[in-house]
Formats: sequence, structure tokens, C-alpha cells
Amino acid sequence: MRTPPLLLLAALLAAPLASASVRYEVKNRRIEPRQTLAQALHDAALPDAQVEAVISALEGVFDFRKSRPGDQLRLVLREGVLDFFDYRQSAVDEWQVRRDGDKYVGSKRTIEVEKRVELVSLEISTSLYEAALAAGEDPGIGVVLADVFAWDIDFYRDTRKGDRARALVEKFVSKGRVLRYGEVLAAAYEGGLVGAKRVFRYQQPDGQANYFQEDGASARKTFLKSPLKYAHITSRFGSRFHPVLQYLKNHNGVDYGTPIGTPVWAVADGTVTKAQNTGAGGNTVCVRHTNGFETCYLHLSRYGAGIRVGARVSQKQVIAYSGNTGRSTGPHLHFALKRGGQFVNPLNQKFPRADPLPKALLPGFLAQTKELASQLDTVSVAEMTEGAGGGAGAGSKAAP
Ligand SMILES: [Zn+2]
Repeated sequence: MRTPPLLLLAALLAAPLASASVRYEVKNRRIEPRQTLAQALHDAALPDAQVEAVISALEGVFDFRKSRPGDQLRLVLREGVLDFFDYRQSAVDEWQVRRDGDKYVGSKRTIEVEKRVELVSLEISTSLYEAALAAGEDPGIGVVLADVFAWDIDFYRDTRKGDRARALVEKFVSKGRVLRYGEVLAAAYEGGLVGAKRVFRYQQPDGQANYFQEDGASARKTFLKSPLKYAHITSRFGSRFHPVLQYLKNHNGVDYGTPIGTPVWAVADGTVTKAQNTGAGGNTVCVRHTNGFETCYLHLSRYGAGIRVGARVSQKQVIAYSGNTGRSTGPHLHFALKRGGQFVNPLNQKFPRADPLPKALLPGFLAQTKELASQLDTVSVAEMTEGAGGGAGAGSKAAP
């Protein structure tokens, strides 16, 4: 919770002097589902005339249709009269209304956001989540990395102790705090199981950006490596949610032990052929793909938005959330792959890569990639002093 320093000071000063002089009261509220801003102000016991004054002060400053459940509001009352009102939607979207004599003035707070490119370096000892925390990063970096390696690495089962990940990533920073990660410009993963993988982002002349390997081959494949979107999994190796995967012929699929509600990805573009409860399979989604492939996702807790028979889905679209429905002995996703109507083992399929970069674009790509690769391979000061075993701390600055 942030409080303007002056107000905080005023409130603190007010406390010991309360009997002698000014009495302040601070009310913190959130917008409830189906509640308008005016209703929220009413519910905070603000008199009708002041509710109207706040609403009209925000007229033309704040778009009331954008008000959402969970938005935070703070009212500071001085002697029972609203002195200051603050409406916060996100770290960068904040509006305020101040009393100016007997008028109220509304404004949007301008918050400076700086975009930086930094080198993030992670060493995995238990999980990607804990590696991020150990490096002073937000766990969201794990989601970002899993996304760019989604065709080659299944972060639920392919990570091993001692694996290393490095990425040149955009960070949106305000007042020294990282608000969110932007695009990954380049990333490298060195894993005990998966080997060395490197991907580079390249924006083609049509504006589309894609990831490629160092030689211009596509990073994308027709199928993803995992049907689960990596989502801040905190578990350590060997814990009950770490999936022990085995394809069992008589069970026709692979089980991923995962907490209920984990987002499930369509592993490839396709058309939904089933979205219903199938009894033993619980809530089930099946998708038909090209070349006679079909995938099915079982025991789901719920379906993704717009998922019904006949719906077109694209690779990486969240089509459902994992669950424990049907004949299931614990929260898990049962994932099945069929080819030509026959079940096949999804763990040992080799899927083709998407088209490589057109030859004409290769020289530009190679020049850009060489530069990114050298930044990616930069050894930070922290790593040099800590020796081979050290992580890069908060990451060294790699580009403007
Ligand atoms: Zn199963």
C-alpha cells in the first residue's frame, strides 16, 4: 500500500494532536463484483453529495466502464469530509481526486515507466520458481522463459539440478521496481537432460516476430513439448506434484501430476472434437490436428473460454484447466495422442519444425543474432567473483 508521503506525515502528526486539532480517517476498499465506483463510495459511508463530487471530478479523466472488481480505492477523510481519494487499478494506472477549497479536482497520476534490457541468469537447484527467487527475479520470469522454449523443453519434467538458463529480457521498471517482463530477445538453456538450446527473437518485415535458432531454423514446431503451460510451479524435485511420467500402453496416455487449475495448452493448432464430461475421463477436451493427429486432455476442472465442439484453437491457446474429475486418484492431467485413430506415445514423437527464416532475411538475422549472442554470453561481474557456481544476482545490465 503506498501513501503519499505528505499525507502519511499529516496522518502521523494528526494522531497525537487528535484531541486538539484535526482528525483523519483512512478507508481502504476494493471494487466488488458488479459494484460501480459510486456504489463502492456509498458503501464506504461517504455522504451522497461527496460521492457525486468525486464522480464529477473524475468525469472525462477516468473511464468508468474500465472499473473492475479488485481495483483498489483509498479515501482520506479530514474531520469526516473527504480530503483525498485515490483509485488504483495497477502499478501504473492510478487516478486521484483532491480537495481544493470547496472543489474537488480529479487527475490521472503519471507514473514513469522505463524499459530496460537486462541479462537474467538462473541456476536451477530445485525448481525454476526457486531459481528465479534466488536470482532476485520475479517468478514470472519462469513463465516467460518456458514460453520461448515451449517447443523443445517441458519445464514440468525436463529440468534437472544444475541446469542453467540465461536470457536477455525487457524489463518495465518504475521507481526501481520491475513491474513486468517484456519480450525475451534471446535465451539460452543448458540442461542435463535437454542439452543446450538457444533461441533468438527476430521481427520479420511483415511485423511478425518469431523465435529462431542461431542458424535461422525455426524454434517452433507443429506440436509443443508439453500440454501444460508453465505457471509458477513452486514444487521441488520429487515432491508430490513433480510428474513421474511414463507412457502406459493399456492406459493410453501420460499422466502429469499438477495442482488443480494449471492452465492446459492446445499443443497444436486444430479443431475441438469433444468438450464434455466422459464419465471415467471426467471433463475432457479433444482436438483434431492436421496429418491425422488428435489430442485429448482428461480430468479437467474447467474449460477455457469459447471451447466447444467445432471451435478452432491455436497452439498455446489455454483450452482448459487441469483438475481431478472422473476416475482420478489425485489432481493430474491425463494427456493422450492419437495418430490415424490409434493411441501413440506422445513422449517419443518427433515433430517437424516450422519453416526456417526465408533466405533473403538470413544476413540481417545473422548480424543481429551475433550481437545478441555476445551479450547473452557476457559473464557478469557477480559470476566472475563468485566463480562457476554463482548466479548473477540481480543480473547485469547488458544494453541501454
Ligand atoms: Zn492417466
